[in-house]
Amino acid sequence: MREHWSLLLDKPDQADKAAFFKGDAKTVTPEQTIERLRRIASVVVPPASREVFGNIAKHRNKMVHFVHAGEAGANGQEELEKVAEEQCAGWLALRTLLSEWPEFASYQRDIRQVSTKMERYRAYLRKAFEAKQPELQAHRRAGGRVIACPSCFFESVKVEKPHGSIADASCILCRFFHGSEIEVACPDPGCAERIIFTSGDGPPGACPTCSAQISKDYVSETLDTGEGVHKDNYFDHVSINCPSCSGYHTVIEHHNRYVCSECYDTSDTYGVCGYCSEGQLGGVPEHSSWVGCEFCEGNAGRHADD
Ligand SMILES: [Zn+2]
Ligand SMILES: [Zn+2]
Ligand SMILES: [Zn+2]
Ligand SMILES: [Zn+2]
Repeated sequence: MREHWSLLLDKPDQADKAAFFKGDAKTVTPEQTIERLRRIASVVVPPASREVFGNIAKHRNKMVHFVHAGEAGANGQEELEKVAEEQCAGWLALRTLLSEWPEFASYQRDIRQVSTKMERYRAYLRKAFEAKQPELQAHRRAGGRVIACPSCFFESVKVEKPHGSIADASCILCRFFHGSEIEVACPDPGCAERIIFTSGDGPPGACPTCSAQISKDYVSETLDTGEGVHKDNYFDHVSINCPSCSGYHTVIEHHNRYVCSECYDTSDTYGVCGYCSEGQLGGVPEHSSWVGCEFCEGNAGRHADD
């Protein structure tokens, strides 16, 4: 809409201004919207978020056609829990995007209100949460920590032993938070207080103790234990992209593990694409020289264009 109103239409070339502003025009599908945002406005919606938005759209379509099975049946409770998990994950994905888009800065109040309304859906997960208590207790007894999930908000994330400043952390209640907990020191040397955040929430904008500003660049420099590029490794150095957030060269090394400095996705490994020679966090597909990676189309793409 900010680029041009006609981009909201299914066929911008057949745009009719009067019809559009009367609300009488065929608009784009969510998939098309995401594609147009990427191609025209350079706004990237990460693949994982696309998937979760797609799931929610499917439920919505079933509801309008009165065929949603979630309301009844033998597996009713299970179905409801699944939908609630997906809604929580969808809201986390949307919240993250909204906080990154300055165009939505004046909507903070509405965003908070939606968050409050989401609490209603959490109720469907309470039973499942109670059933998980023994597993969480066992983790605590073994010396592990349990923290709140950024997606479903229950205290249901098991934090594993840290590797440097990063510990794997996954929610055992909803299937959507598989991330990490990260610790850095406050950038103000006089404070140096520990700042802990999850990959779901990202770092706070400021230190909670002294209000010193915390930028993603600061976190990235602090976590980066890699060598960086210099004249002796210039030709062997592989820049690594992140397929989770489509981050270009955003992956840094942290004590032999790899972490994206944009979305904080982590992995023990990365792969090198056989076609574009760029690194990709977590690995590249088999036959990457033919199929490419998340960032290139490989040889198959080239032949398709011929
Ligand atoms: Zn969760
Ligand atoms: Zn501080
Ligand atoms: Zn990333
Ligand atoms: Zn590639």
